[in-house]
Amino acid sequence: MKKILQKTSIALSLAALMSSSVFAQGRFDNVEVKAQAIGGSVHMLVGAGGNIGVSAGPDGLLIVDDQYADLAEKIATTLADISKEQTRYVINTHFHGDHTGSNAFFSKHKKATIFAHDNVRVRLSAGEETDPAMLPVVTYDKGVKFHMNGETVHVFHLANAHTDGDSAVWFEQPDILHTGDLFFKDWFPFIDLNSGGSVTGYITAVETLLGMIDGGTKVIPGHGALANKGDYERFLNMIKQTYAYVQAKKAAGMSEDDVVKAGLEEKWKSWSWNFITEERWIRTLYK
Ligand SMILES: [Zn+2]
Repeated sequence: MKKILQKTSIALSLAALMSSSVFAQGRFDNVEVKAQAIGGSVHMLVGAGGNIGVSAGPDGLLIVDDQYADLAEKIATTLADISKEQTRYVINTHFHGDHTGSNAFFSKHKKATIFAHDNVRVRLSAGEETDPAMLPVVTYDKGVKFHMNGETVHVFHLANAHTDGDSAVWFEQPDILHTGDLFFKDWFPFIDLNSGGSVTGYITAVETLLGMIDGGTKVIPGHGALANKGDYERFLNMIKQTYAYVQAKKAAGMSEDDVVKAGLEEKWKSWSWNFITEERWIRTLYK
């Protein structure tokens, strides 16, 4: 009996091992990269990782972020469906791999020039096995403007928010804002405290961006569906209220673990997701 049990458990763990390795191999196999026309020259691409913004027209393509390396070919195929022109420029809203993964593909195979804030290049360069082809070639401190496809594209840095190298991109004429990871629609945001991010800086950055847009602006969040100013205000409100709640408990002498145990108010539970759970969000707000 014992032997049978042992065999069964070995078979089971083997099955688990195989299915997990198959899963790892094919993590992106079933991902489709889909495009949506939003306004003017601008499209939004959704696959896995950060949403991609695109300006497409006679002057070529400019893309904002490029998701994971494994999706590069699929992204290129979807872009080719939008326009036969060349992908000339890539802007990275920050250094995280789900926004910069296809950099090397676009610089090597499409001869695109990569733009980002100075600190994006610094942080990507610090990686141990970084392919130099993935590094931004043009870096800036405050920002840069592109004049193409009959529109003006404003790229500007926001200090210490999600990371220390965040940029947002405003497509002026169609009035579309790509926030990078300064917006997770209806989800708790990830704030990378170990890479120069900060909760108060994040709040300031969101307030700055909200001050630039109105009810007619379309908002491409870093993660989540296409949004508007009302959605972004709801997000800011959630951050401010949960931050005040956690800081009040901390001021009253509660430990981080005790606040985690107590949890947030019921109305915020739906903002939790697999990467930033309620616990992780509380720990971010407490620090
Ligand atoms: Zn990010």
